[in-house]
Amino acid sequence: MTDCIFCKIARKEMGSLIYEDELVAAFDDVNPQAPVHVLIVPKNHVERLLDVGDDDKLLLGHILVVANKIARERGVAEAGYRVVVNCNREAGQSVWHLHFHLLGGRKMGWPPG
Ligand code: AMP
Repeated sequence: MTDCIFCKIARKEMGSLIYEDELVAAFDDVNPQAPVHVLIVPKNHVERLLDVGDDDKLLLGHILVVANKIARERGVAEAGYRVVVNCNREAGQSVWHLHFHLLGGRKMGWPPG
């Protein structure tokens, strides 16, 4: 989608990527909520977690494997990290391109706010 901010980042038209492959791109969150706060997005535009289906199973599994890789690279894997998807308004989704938050580097509370 031409005017989607995460599409632009994934296409390297703005910002900078910390990881990419044929399916996904990852970059640091502009407003980090933890010492490590990375967003992992599909390169193809998908608005919400709710919009994925059977054809996206490989993509979804791949994103979690990429999250593990980045967690290790950023040194938070063993201490602990969290992967979060906010879907729709009440969950706090504010950017309408599916993204997985990878958060780590501090102790986290539960339940989330
Ligand atoms: P959510 O509220 O789950 O939709 O998360 C959107 C996230 O995108 C927030 O954590 C924002 O800080 C982050 N964000 C918004 N614009 C940018 C940007 N240009 N570069 C990096 N992160 C961004």
